[in-house]
Amino acid sequence: MFHYNHSIWKSDALEIPGVAHGFSTREGGVSTLSHTASMNTGFFRGDDSETVVENIRLLCRHAGLSETVVCTPQIHSDIIRYVTRENVGEGTQRDVPFSCDGFVTDQPGVTLLVRVADCAPVLLAGVTEAGAPLVGAVHAGWRGTAAGIAAKAVAMLREMGAAEVHAAVGACIHSCCYQVGEELRDTVAELRGREFAARHVTRRDGALYADIAGMNRELLLEAGVGAVDVCGECTRCNPALYHSHRATGGVRGTMGAVIGILR
Ligand SMILES: [Zn+2]
Repeated sequence: MFHYNHSIWKSDALEIPGVAHGFSTREGGVSTLSHTASMNTGFFRGDDSETVVENIRLLCRHAGLSETVVCTPQIHSDIIRYVTRENVGEGTQRDVPFSCDGFVTDQPGVTLLVRVADCAPVLLAGVTEAGAPLVGAVHAGWRGTAAGIAAKAVAMLREMGAAEVHAAVGACIHSCCYQVGEELRDTVAELRGREFAARHVTRRDGALYADIAGMNRELLLEAGVGAVDVCGECTRCNPALYHSHRATGGVRGTMGAVIGILR
């Protein structure tokens, strides 16, 4: 179950000891431009850097996390990086350190941030046999989703010692609104099989619609995740609460999803 509180969504699935997280909406920030107000975590969207940095700080505070963040430009890949305290601060200014679409860590005090505006944010929390927490964050648009980025994060957490992993898929564009082309369906079929594509890319009134939340849920369950919580909210359906790339033609702010291990 997802709960909305003080501008962020939280999922029961990720409520494990020593871990905090949050999925932002467009509420709770300090941006004042009509298209970025008020929570925009993306540079190059019209806000000055100080405003974006302050928004990221506020998002961490709302989520109960330390403000020592790692984030990067995202490229719709399936690249995930293991990060440590040495990486803190990377991507939190208007610099371009490296690109990837997900992070995992086992170190306390490292807040992982991924950014979305219709793409699916996937947050993961695992626990080792000894009870130590591990966390991951993934940006999953259709390309990353079809490439299996969420399952890849699960595999990395297992390699790091996770005995069990829980996951939550935050608000994203749902199949009510996500009209897509044949190319998307064909690529999903190529990467994940025709049956998978048929389950998640369906025809309605002569057009194709994709369900990226459903794809991620299936791939996470297949990867052995015990609990997958999916937020039912569609970002395109509610532009007052969410930044939506589709709803705005790309003139929009960017939301953030954060997770970390408490110090
Ligand atoms: Zn919708």
